[in-house]
Amino acid sequence: MEWLAPGSVVSQGAPLLAKSLESHRTPVAPVDGIVGEQVPVRLIGGREVLGVRFTPAHPGPTVRPNASRGDHREAARRLDEVDTSAFGEWLTRIQLAGIAADRWTCPDLLKQLRDALTRPIDTLVCNLLDSDPWLPLSRTACQSYPRELAAGLGLLGRLTGAKDWWALVDQADDCSGPIREAASDLASALRIAPLENDYPQLDPTLLVHSITGRRLRPGRLPSTHGVILIDGPAAAAIGRLLLDDSPMTHVPIAVYDQPTDVISCLSVPLGVHARAVFSLLGIPWASRDVFAGGPLRQLRVGDDEVIGPGELTLFSAPQHPAMPPEPCVRCGWCVEACPTRCRPAGLLEAAQRRDAEWARGNGLDACIECGLCTFVCPSKLPLLEGIRFLKRGIAAEEF
Ligand code: SF4
Ligand code: SF4
Repeated sequence: MEWLAPGSVVSQGAPLLAKSLESHRTPVAPVDGIVGEQVPVRLIGGREVLGVRFTPAHPGPTVRPNASRGDHREAARRLDEVDTSAFGEWLTRIQLAGIAADRWTCPDLLKQLRDALTRPIDTLVCNLLDSDPWLPLSRTACQSYPRELAAGLGLLGRLTGAKDWWALVDQADDCSGPIREAASDLASALRIAPLENDYPQLDPTLLVHSITGRRLRPGRLPSTHGVILIDGPAAAAIGRLLLDDSPMTHVPIAVYDQPTDVISCLSVPLGVHARAVFSLLGIPWASRDVFAGGPLRQLRVGDDEVIGPGELTLFSAPQHPAMPPEPCVRCGWCVEACPTRCRPAGLLEAAQRRDAEWARGNGLDACIECGLCTFVCPSKLPLLEGIRFLKRGIAAEEF
C-alpha cells in the first residue's frame, strides 16, 4: 500500500492512499487533517494492520448525532437511476469511499461483494439483531437512519440480482417500523423476518441456516453459499454513498458500562482509540475490563486498539482478578450449552495436547466462538481461550 506522504493535508473523506489496490480496503480521512508517519495499528478484535498517524485539524473526536436526512422520493429517484450492470464500478466506489466491515454481524463485506461479481447470489440478508439488549446498535441504526439503510439494501439487491431480500429483526423487540416505511419506497422486495433472538442466533452460520437452510461452515463467507450478509451500519454506509455521495468517515457504536448501567450510542470517527471514546463518555478506562461484541465472546479490547471496520459494540465491566480454574468435573454443561454440538471439554484437552485430529473429533470445525461453554462451566475453565489457541495453531500449521 502506498500511503500519502507525511505532511499531506487532506479533507474529510479523502482517500489516504496515493494509489488504491483493488484487493485492499481504502482508508479515508475521518475528518480534515494532516497525514503523519506510518504505524502499525491494532484494530478492535486484535488484528494488526498498517495505518498512518493522523492529526485532526480540530482536536478531539468529532461525535455526530445519529440522524437521517432528506426524503424518500429523492432517494427513490437515485435508486431508479442506478445502472444495475455496473456492479464492478459500484464496488470500486464502495471501496474508495472507505466502506468496509469485517465483524461478527457482517463478515468481510468487500470480499463478499467481490465474490458476488463471479458467483450467483440469490439472497440478501440484513442482520438487524443485537447480541445483547444493552448493546442496541441495530435498534439505533433502524431508528436513526432507516432511509439510508433501506437505500443501501435496495442498491445491493439490484446490483447482485438477489431474488430474496431479508431484514432479520428480534421478534421480542421489533424495531422495524421505520425501516418498513422506508423500504416501501426504496426496497419494496425487502421482507422483514422476526426471529427468536436467543444468543448466539446472530452468528452468520446460524443466520444463514435459519433463512436458507444452507450449512455454512464457521469462518466461511456467506457469499460462498449464494448469500450476501450485511448489518445495519454497513447497509446505511452504502445507502449514504448512494444518496449523498458520502464516504464512510464515522461509524455508529454502542457502549454499555455495566458499573453505572449506562448505555451510549454514538457515531465516532474511524481510527479513534476505544479509550478516547471512554474518556469522552466519562467512563474510567483504567478501572474497567472492556470487551468487544458482547461479554460472552471474550474479545478483550486493549489500550492501543482503535475503532475500525470490526466490532462496533463495547461492553465494560469492573476490573476483577481472574478466578483460578478448578479441574473439570465432567458435568457436561458445556456440551449441553453448545449451539453447534461441539464437545468443549474435549477441545480444551486437544488444546493441552496440541492435537489437531483430537480437536476435529470434538467438533472444532463447528465452533462459532460464542463463548457459551465458558460461561456455563462451573469450574471456570478457559474453554474459549483453548479453542482460539487451537484454531491459531492449526492455521499456522504448528500442530
Ligand atoms: S464457543 Fe463453546 S459453546 Fe460456542 S460454539 Fe464453540 S464450543 Fe460451542
Ligand atoms: S462445563 Fe466445565 S466442568 Fe463441566 S464438563 Fe464442561 S469443561 Fe468440564
